[in-house]
Amino acid sequence: MQRTLSIIKPDGVSRGLIGEVVGRFEKNGIHIAGMKMIRMTQAQAEGFYHVHRNKPFFNSLTRFMSSGPVVVMALEGENIIEKNRKLMGATDPKNAEPGTIRRDFASEIEKNVVHGSDSPESATFEIGYFFNRFEIVS
Ligand code: UDP
Ligand code: MG
Repeated sequence: MQRTLSIIKPDGVSRGLIGEVVGRFEKNGIHIAGMKMIRMTQAQAEGFYHVHRNKPFFNSLTRFMSSGPVVVMALEGENIIEKNRKLMGATDPKNAEPGTIRRDFASEIEKNVVHGSDSPESATFEIGYFFNRFEIVS
């Protein structure tokens, strides 16, 4: 059993895509172990994305991620990190496979609707960033 962090980014929430994204998880039999809507400050978004602090897109990304509410979810299941990344599609929607969330709903690399952890180590950090142990129901 593995866990991963999913975020419906501010563009996904403001465009009314919460149900669409959650529905794809449910249709694929993914267990949502934790879920809430929050709004980050830019400093909180910087802490979340600290691995990208030296990237040219860091400022714009953290401004975007703090621009409105997001839905954070802890997903649980076998091989869930990779499974979620497959459902999301490539970072740049232009390169994402048809039928993926990013290909179907995003049109630019920054505002690409969803986040998903990329490794067990980042999943542990990212879930712990938003959830305490009482907020995760296995
Ligand atoms: N991003 C961006 N420009 C880039 C690469 C990434 O604005 O050239 C943004 C995009 O929102 C992406 C996030 O930064 O989802 C984190 O980048 P990462 O490479 O970790 O992509 P992801 O894991 O989200 O597919
Ligand atoms: Mg990433």
